[in-house]
Amino acid sequence: MTINRRTLMTCAGLAAVTAAAGALPEAKAAAATPQSISPFPGALRRKVGDITVTALLDGYLDVQDSLLVGFDAADARNLAESAFQAPGPQRIPVTAYLVNSGGNLILVDAGTADTFGPTLGRLPEALRAAGVEPSDIDMLAITHLHPDHINGALAPDGSALFPNAELMGSETDYRFWHDDSFLSQADEHARGFFLGARKGVAAYRDRLNLFTDNAEIAPGLHAVALPGHTPGHTGFRIESGKDSLLIWGDVAHIAAYQFARPDWGISFDTNVDQARATRKKVLDQVATDRLMIAGMHLPFPGFGHVARQGSSYRFVPAEWPYTF
Ligand SMILES: [Zn+2]
Repeated sequence: MTINRRTLMTCAGLAAVTAAAGALPEAKAAAATPQSISPFPGALRRKVGDITVTALLDGYLDVQDSLLVGFDAADARNLAESAFQAPGPQRIPVTAYLVNSGGNLILVDAGTADTFGPTLGRLPEALRAAGVEPSDIDMLAITHLHPDHINGALAPDGSALFPNAELMGSETDYRFWHDDSFLSQADEHARGFFLGARKGVAAYRDRLNLFTDNAEIAPGLHAVALPGHTPGHTGFRIESGKDSLLIWGDVAHIAAYQFARPDWGISFDTNVDQARATRKKVLDQVATDRLMIAGMHLPFPGFGHVARQGSSYRFVPAEWPYTF
């Protein structure tokens, strides 16, 4: 049914409200309803050919401008304003993606568990909302071993949250985070990243499957090396029939800034220059190929396209159809 003013006005309920000339609902009723600021479980799925991909919201965090690298504060304020965002810290989601290929149930990234405070750690609820238990997951494919992607692989007691899942990760990333010479050079903050990566992987050591760049890790699912954010940072490209989707991990963290200013990095980038080069290359490719992307920190559910805008880009969120 097409909703327009006439069809709306013929709806009995609305007509009754309209008939009560000037009567607004009593404010008291609304005031008595507690207003939660916690996110509800977030799960939205769409089809990529025969494959179902479900975005699962782990929660959100606020990123201070001071974490950006190579940015201009006045320009950031203007970009925030033109994106209808308040200037200053940008609120970004942490999302994981569940890929159901028919043969495999693959979780791409695992969120944060309880390690980032109360605004995050909702992935298990989102998974349940999607009708999936942790024991149903066959494969946990990790874009990179940062805490907002791997910490959620652990149960509160430090064991594997996904008891039947093989952990699939980039060999390059694994080697980097397990190299003691890099660990010994790390400052205290970075040291936490190294130890967290090792802890996450250790829980799956008996079913760890490391892939090389661009390997096919399951039918219709290819790893895509996107180095820079971490040395083995990886996207996953899903192909089914005529459809495809690139889950690009952390190619961009702040949609309001980094499509317009792909030069701007983030202090979490292991190699800012390499991350910048990768971001520019991927933006160019997916804009040219009109390839749908999904990103862990793009506005939830994070599916969309990249359009050219002058010499840079803009993010165009995917419209429906999502399915239930
Ligand atoms: Zn991240």
